[in-house]
Amino acid sequence: MGFDDLLAANAEYAKTFHDHEFDGKARRGVLVLTCMDSRIEPLAMMGLGIGDAKILRTPGGFLTSESLVGCIVGIHKLGVNRIMVIQHTRCAMASSTDDAIRKIIASSAGRPADDLVLGADTNQRGHLASDIATLRDNEFIAGHAEVGGFIYDVDWGHLTQVL
Ligand SMILES: [Zn+2]
Repeated sequence: MGFDDLLAANAEYAKTFHDHEFDGKARRGVLVLTCMDSRIEPLAMMGLGIGDAKILRTPGGFLTSESLVGCIVGIHKLGVNRIMVIQHTRCAMASSTDDAIRKIIASSAGRPADDLVLGADTNQRGHLASDIATLRDNEFIAGHAEVGGFIYDVDWGHLTQVL
């Protein structure tokens, strides 16, 4: 398969690229933590464009230690003052257990996956509430950024704030 198709598309993209001197700060002050799901277009679905927002993507949109670092650096170095945690409908990480996903991986990989820690959680709303509380309580975030929890409907395109 390789990457040639993507590099060819990039060559076309670079021909009309014009954001040469931008400093990389989030121009709209937004950081989005959301799922890796390919049905989610974090910029397009909120009218954002290149340079407007920091985007962190994890399986499930769940907060991880690395994405927490991204939030803190985003606030204190890159102009972030609003954090959106966006989970979504029909998310594999919120409709399966680690056991079930491990079985799929083991079958696909042809080797045991018993030791993989995946972090799936069928209590999606509870997980979102916990992640929002963690962010709001963090000493480097509290008082520096507004934090909201959202659900995105991948079938209809609607984004709703739930926390
Ligand atoms: Zn997902």
